[in-house]
Amino acid sequence: MTARTLRRFLAGNLGRAMTRCEFCGEAVTDEHGHGHVADLASRSILCACPGCRLLFTPTGAGGGRYRAIPTRYHFAPSFAAGPRLLAAAGIPVGLAFFVIHDGTVNAFYPSPAGATHCELPATLTPQDLNLDDPGGPGTGTDRATGGPVWRPEPEVEAVLVHVTRDGQAGYLLPIDACYRLVGDLRLHWRGFDGGADARAHLAAFLADARHRAGAAPAAAASAADAASAAAAPMTSAVGGARWPT
Ligand SMILES: [Zn+2]
Ligand SMILES: [Zn+2]
Repeated sequence: MTARTLRRFLAGNLGRAMTRCEFCGEAVTDEHGHGHVADLASRSILCACPGCRLLFTPTGAGGGRYRAIPTRYHFAPSFAAGPRLLAAAGIPVGLAFFVIHDGTVNAFYPSPAGATHCELPATLTPQDLNLDDPGGPGTGTDRATGGPVWRPEPEVEAVLVHVTRDGQAGYLLPIDACYRLVGDLRLHWRGFDGGADARAHLAAFLADARHRAGAAPAAAASAADAASAAAAPMTSAVGGARWPT
């Protein structure tokens, strides 16, 4: 079998991936449709059938080491804390994820090597990750404004900050989606700034996240994304910094 055939074989296999629940061994089919559970001890993600995933939800019986990864998405077209978070992390790109781990805020961003972690000053608190929720009840109340906010669940949800030409957008999304994006960008990364292919994959991912968040198809937002994707390399967002080597 030549290398090329082998690659095609692997690609074909991935296409109709038959995954097994990593708890009970039952087959779960849909590539991205099945549930996931975070292993907090090893910081890894496990595939789970609906029954096993249920055990590790807040109301489930599992608890402890494993936690079901939620499936909700929220989108804030304008995220006021975005610039402060990116600056605190010293992140050289216009895209980063923020996750609450052990009560503190952690950051990582996509790179050709996968997820790169950043040190954050202790002045950042989990409250800095609250996304405004002008349209609904949210999951909490902002300490400063008293308004409704969406709060990421520690360990299993992240806030993605994306710098656009118009400012900073915030997305609350499942942690497994973040790792999927990091893997996807790594696969399509070219040169020091990611290249057009990686930018197109990022634009598609963000459009899908907005759709899942119930945001209107927003032709304007999509057009702005497409324009910024075409015009600006991902590294240009913060002072034209080059990719760290
Ligand atoms: Zn199972
Ligand atoms: Zn899976």
